[in-house]
Amino acid sequence: MTGKDIGDGLAAEWSHVRKELETELGAAIFKSWLSPLEVESVKSEGVTLSVPTRFMRDWIQSKYAGRIRDLWAAKNPSLRNVDFVVRGLASKPDGGEVNAERVAAEAGIAVESVTHPAGNRAWTLEEVVAPLDPRFTFDNFVVGKPNELAHAAARRVVEADEVPFNPLFLYGGVGLGKTHLMHAIAWHIRERAPKRKVVYLSAEKFMYLFIRALRFKNTMAFKDLFRSVDVLMIDDVQFMADKEATQEEFFHTFNALVDQKRQIIISADKSPSDLDRLEERLRSRLGWGLVADIHATTYELRLGILHSKAEQMGIAVPAKVMEFLAHRITSNIRELEGARTRGIAHATLVGRDITLETTQEVLRDLLRANERRVTIEEIQKQVAQHFNVRVADMHSDRRSRVVARPRQVAMYLAKQLTQRSLPEIGRKFGGRDHTTVMHAVRKIEELRGSDPNFSEDVDLLRRMLES
Ligand code: ADP
Ligand code: MG
Repeated sequence: MTGKDIGDGLAAEWSHVRKELETELGAAIFKSWLSPLEVESVKSEGVTLSVPTRFMRDWIQSKYAGRIRDLWAAKNPSLRNVDFVVRGLASKPDGGEVNAERVAAEAGIAVESVTHPAGNRAWTLEEVVAPLDPRFTFDNFVVGKPNELAHAAARRVVEADEVPFNPLFLYGGVGLGKTHLMHAIAWHIRERAPKRKVVYLSAEKFMYLFIRALRFKNTMAFKDLFRSVDVLMIDDVQFMADKEATQEEFFHTFNALVDQKRQIIISADKSPSDLDRLEERLRSRLGWGLVADIHATTYELRLGILHSKAEQMGIAVPAKVMEFLAHRITSNIRELEGARTRGIAHATLVGRDITLETTQEVLRDLLRANERRVTIEEIQKQVAQHFNVRVADMHSDRRSRVVARPRQVAMYLAKQLTQRSLPEIGRKFGGRDHTTVMHAVRKIEELRGSDPNFSEDVDLLRRMLES
């Protein structure tokens, strides 16, 4: 036989094997796992097949390799071996196995801190998505020169019948409205096309879910879940810097969704080409669609935003106070925070017609509108999910450690992350006394001091709630 004969024969055999696999395993599994296989090289003793990621290779090797070999050997008895490699990684020195330990190590966290979801139960979309801020809508987004491209692109994504560009990549400094625009897209689609599955989450949460999936051998559900969405939004993708295994998994998810013509929206603090701690192929892929830059705010935009916020709250703020604030805040909207104290003092001097109290009131609301507020309900939900207990256990009288400890963690986080008083927190936990909350806070502080893993666990939860 000549080399060409081997090639042609093998191509036909491979196509036969693929058909058999699809019939045996069903279209969905075949599509997720086996359709990405390609013949990489052919030698006299066997063939080498390639897949896009290490993680897929390991999975195929453990689940399907035997069946592929048998099917192929049945067709061609002279075939001795079928191998699997990762495409484009042949020369990489670190082609080790992807496992939870490795991904967690890249993220700088202990794998033990990623706790167990309910058995092998698949997560639902509701559990995966981050809550949307009700104030982050298109109506509340003030458009100006610095953000008009990003805004127009976001509108285009929600109005177009087909995916207009993939991905939409939004980038800019802190507090310039990236998250606001993403939430606005999600709200808009939820309202107009409720059947479309929209998933918004931070890059950090994506990584966390990925580690959980690896750790609890739930990767199939993880993959299926992300491949089932219509619109995927990943916020702050710069978080994936240097986390190679997470990047790789994300790259693969990304490609699968683009292939299926699903919309992807990404945000980051830098342009794709400047994200130099991301792998080259991912960086280049991120720049394939529309890259929209949000520039630092201008005086006019800041003034516009202040007017809009005052109007939303139905409060008349003297023009001078507005102008003063718009001057004070130089780079981003969150800086209002820093301008508060001086703002109050100055506003009372220039705005004779408004009292100190009203100015404070107005400013406090303006500022509060710029913070991401976490509710006790969100905390309870996230903590319950994290420790695999029911949300109802947050309110129940059950005292067994399994539920009491998570409840204490939730109380502790409620104290840390919200403005609620101890009695208020107690009421939200099944009408408990404020001393119970105080005890919980102390207990958790004590445990954090003595158990670094536990402490990390709590920090992780806290970051997830804040993101
Ligand atoms: P980023 O994600 O870019 O760091 P955010 O989207 O969290 O920034 O915005 C920070 C705050 O500023 C939010 O309260 C947001 O509503 C507000 N904000 C930013 N840009 C605008 C805008 N153009 N119009 C109205 N509010 C804005
Ligand atoms: Mg943001």
